[in-house]
Amino acid sequence: MTTTPVVGVLALQGAFREHRRAFERRGARVVEVRKPAHLDGIGGLVIPGGESTTMAKLMRAYGLDQAIPAFHAAGGAVWGTCAGAIAVARDIEGHPDQPRLGLLDLGVARNAYGRQVASFEADLDVDGLDAPFHGVFIRAPRIVRVGSGVATLASFDGDPVAVLGDRVLATVFHPELAGDDALHQLFLERVCSVELAPR
Ligand code: GLN
Repeated sequence: MTTTPVVGVLALQGAFREHRRAFERRGARVVEVRKPAHLDGIGGLVIPGGESTTMAKLMRAYGLDQAIPAFHAAGGAVWGTCAGAIAVARDIEGHPDQPRLGLLDLGVARNAYGRQVASFEADLDVDGLDAPFHGVFIRAPRIVRVGSGVATLASFDGDPVAVLGDRVLATVFHPELAGDDALHQLFLERVCSVELAPR
């Protein structure tokens, strides 16, 4: 039997509306998370792209810097995209004091795809998807270290760009802008472990 999955989208700053629509197209109910109480009853949480230092300050101001790790420790799934991937990483190269959730044993470098071509698009082969996924990279972080226990699902130019650890997915591109909900479905099925109704 399938029940409607409920996921949260961190809605403090950044590209959260597009994630909401992608999940709704896949049959999930979406809660906009702005304070710790909004985490109650959701199975997974997306931390969207935006500006990672601004988002970190807002998470701290609302107590989500404590509540999100507690949500994950209690069995919740988390997906960080772009700035969200920075938020879930353990190490942020050159920014030792930037607050982070540190949910995934990963090292990232911010804005590390060069000044001239800071934004670009590329088709990616993603482990678990049948068709190439169109990756939209916008001032993306580069993954510079992947810890043991973290699997690389997709790479670009030799660097991992989608990785999966213990109930934490990180993608350095913007899957909500691809016009393709396949990664939202992968998150629901493979990371949140929900069974979606056939489409
Ligand atoms: N460059 C941003 C940061 O470091 C992330 C960019 C994005 O999320 N599109 O916070």
